[in-house]
Amino acid sequence: MSDGVSELVSKLKGVVGDNHLLREADLTAGYSTDWTGRFQGRTPLVVRPANTAELAEVVMLTAEAGFAIVPQGGNTGLVGGSVPLNGEVVLSTMRLNDCQPVDQLAQQVTCGAGVTLAQAQAHVASASLDIGVDLAARDSCTIGGMIATNAGGINVIRYGAMREQVLGIEAVLADGSVISHLEGLEKDNTGYHFPSLLAGSEGTLGIITKARLRLHPHLTGRCTAMLAFDNVDDAVAATSALRRSVTSLHSAEVIFRDAMHLVCEHINSAVPVGANSEAWLIIEAAAPSDPTEELAAAIDSLGRLVVDVGVGVDSSSRKNLWQYREKVTEAIAAAGTPHKLDVTLGASKLADFVTEVPSIVSAIDEGSSVYMFGHLGDGNVHVNVMGNAGVEPPEAVDAAVLEYAAKLGGSISAEHGIGTAKKEFLHLNRTSAEIFAFRSIKHALDPRQILNPHVLLPSEDS
Ligand SMILES: Cc1cc2nc3c(=O)[nH]c(=O)nc-3n(C[C@H](O)[C@H](O)[C@H](O)COP(=O)(O)OP(=O)(O)OC[C@H]3O[C@@H](n4cnc5c(N)ncnc54)[C@H](O)[C@@H]3O)c2cc1C
Repeated sequence: MSDGVSELVSKLKGVVGDNHLLREADLTAGYSTDWTGRFQGRTPLVVRPANTAELAEVVMLTAEAGFAIVPQGGNTGLVGGSVPLNGEVVLSTMRLNDCQPVDQLAQQVTCGAGVTLAQAQAHVASASLDIGVDLAARDSCTIGGMIATNAGGINVIRYGAMREQVLGIEAVLADGSVISHLEGLEKDNTGYHFPSLLAGSEGTLGIITKARLRLHPHLTGRCTAMLAFDNVDDAVAATSALRRSVTSLHSAEVIFRDAMHLVCEHINSAVPVGANSEAWLIIEAAAPSDPTEELAAAIDSLGRLVVDVGVGVDSSSRKNLWQYREKVTEAIAAAGTPHKLDVTLGASKLADFVTEVPSIVSAIDEGSSVYMFGHLGDGNVHVNVMGNAGVEPPEAVDAAVLEYAAKLGGSISAEHGIGTAKKEFLHLNRTSAEIFAFRSIKHALDPRQILNPHVLLPSEDS
């Protein structure tokens, strides 16, 4: 251990206690490798403060000692932003796991940054309320990480992404100062809006310690359907029609052919409906009372656009349909180490994109496979490219797919953020004036480059 680390450790002992300073490689390994296994770093130290005051002191002392910090929540991020790829200290927020009582009158709650989504959902369910964002990593991802990445998930078409849920925020800045604005007022035009600034900032501007979240009524009437389509155009047209006609539409998710076959193999199941189709939508309607009739009528009116339909009205049949969508990421991880390219396209460009990407990839590496799925209601496609026998594909596929998305007017990051994986591609969506403004904001709040200095912004010489 270098002297700098020993000195820092002895100062931090008095702040967080010995048990929450991890140094041995076997203890820090889980904090140093990301969920996909693609990004593997190393750290001299993992620090686990228990509250805002401890966290602020940790930041101050670590900065003083000259170490950069990677803030980490559940470490489910998919763009290499949550792990110490350059020997940073890891600051884990997992002990900031306190939920305050639900404010039933305002329909809001204040949660610690380290509260997992599942924990927050269970907490507010006792007041018949719900968190507006839901995603398959719910058992591990944290409220702080979800804000820092502006997480999307399966209900964006109804409630928006994480940014739209945050009414107030508390965070520790790079100099150890604390900003706290947790009143949760719906209207508050008193200057710069820190929740907006920190949402999507990926740990580069401040470490979120608490958030005041908007809640939504817990809708108990649910109906789920799986719809099979002959081609991507029909799936896109059906999504658009359902968004217009189903007022209770809660989710519109998609699985494309190769991903569907992979997940079926993974869970040892036949394709549930329309075995020879190209695309499957998972549609969920949610309302205070049973939305089955509304959804059934809307599906009926799609006529021959739909090849086959499966419906789930009780919780076990709904869960059965959802597993094909929720287990895709797990099925891909079990098959190897993919490059994850999460993009958004305008509705009119989705079919072109999904149809062209496999040939763009195979022109670079014939042995690579492409698995696509995502949130069709938001135009969000998760492109997963896997090299032969599960190895990583060549880096050139990332550039080719992201350039194609940008050429079609799309975004190179729909919901996972930029991290380290996409920072050299930021210029595809952001002008040099915008990147200069990003750097100015970073420099103003973190002049010593303490907080996640290697993510989001491209290297100065690129
Ligand atoms: C199976 C699976 C399904 C997923 N589905 C979705 C999905 O549908 N939609 C979606 O948007 N994402 C999805 N993800 C990605 C991931 O779950 C989200 O990006 C999530 O928001 C990350 O939360 P986390 O707590 O794990 O953050 P981490 O992975 O720990 O960190 C992510 C980033 O946020 C920063 N950060 C973490 N905590 C803080 C904090 N308190 N303050 C400041 N910065 C912080 C980190 O430095 C890093 O840059 C999925 C991931 C998996 C594994």
